[in-house]
Amino acid sequence: MKINFNAGPSILPQAVKKQLAESIINLEGKGISLLELSHRSTLFYNIRDELIEKTRVLLNIPSTHEVLYLQGGGRLQFAQIPMNFLNKNNTAAFINTGYWANKACQYARNYGNAEIVFSAEKFQYHSLEELSTCSFLYPQNKFTYLQCTSNNTIYGTQLHTFPRTNVPLICDMSSDIFSRPISFSDFSLCFACAQKNIAPAGLSLVIIHNDFLKNIKTNIPPVFNYQHLIQNQSAYNTPPIFNMYAALLTLRWLETQGGIANIEKKNTARAQLLYNEIERNSLFTLPVRKEDRSNMNICFNAISENIQSAFLDYCTQQNIVGLEGHSTIGGFRASNYNAQTNENIYYLIGVMQQAEKIISF
Ligand code: PMP
Repeated sequence: MKINFNAGPSILPQAVKKQLAESIINLEGKGISLLELSHRSTLFYNIRDELIEKTRVLLNIPSTHEVLYLQGGGRLQFAQIPMNFLNKNNTAAFINTGYWANKACQYARNYGNAEIVFSAEKFQYHSLEELSTCSFLYPQNKFTYLQCTSNNTIYGTQLHTFPRTNVPLICDMSSDIFSRPISFSDFSLCFACAQKNIAPAGLSLVIIHNDFLKNIKTNIPPVFNYQHLIQNQSAYNTPPIFNMYAALLTLRWLETQGGIANIEKKNTARAQLLYNEIERNSLFTLPVRKEDRSNMNICFNAISENIQSAFLDYCTQQNIVGLEGHSTIGGFRASNYNAQTNENIYYLIGVMQQAEKIISF
């Protein structure tokens, strides 16, 4: 099998893949295939209820917040949030930590005004130093909400503290949800696409404060209306049953790993191993400011274009996939989501050390 460092869709736990494969023939010994299950069956309702319950318990979501699993991914939420909450004459504020934050801001402009109130662009998105000292306190009603991105999947930066603000705070947690403890009571809405830490692509998780739900605009089609989707408990229209079951298996697996606090320790330890090797290895450099480095997406560069392509070729020969950086910035990116293994990280480190011996400058 390939050694998988893809940024999403990405590696899933081996135990989850095995159970998923079995469930396609016979779901938990119930005599029916997961792919043929009715979304109006008790079996499905049990899957959905356990998934939502486990999400609440693992993430420690307060009773003030609703949990939704929806179709689609991150970009759909970029549109659905302003569709539900942003009026034509109002303004949403965005913290621009790179590509995804920018995209979300552009989407919001289809519904109202959107303003970037902080940008890390002048540091090529490699440093969030100025963000940590910023407060986002505004006169009443200046902004409908403030949106940030907890982990920048492309640049390999992560918010280790969240912005202080007096307006409803929204966060795109697509690439680090379930990877570390978060205080959800600080947020009005959080969302994440599934294909990094939850399940295969096609599903998203949305967590919304009940008070914020009261601000939903009128005339939103039911399939996009968060309130309507909540009333129908994530099954208004035919839900992505396969993905929701995969998500449930991932969360059951996460429990066996000791929950979020423990998985954070494991993620940090693996990330540290790799960062240490990149710092030590003469072939590579690390562009991101140390304090802002992501534990999920470890981005690095080769010291020259020749070494870049020679190392990539060498990785391909060694069965490694998904190490190329995002097409907009190049370089390398090793994704270290919850399901990444120590074995894979040690394997990559071994390949980097070997490359240092055989690739000449
Ligand atoms: N937000 C972040 C932080 C992402 O990393 C991604 C995808 N990698 C998205 C949004 C977009 O997700 P999707 O492809 O599911 O629309």
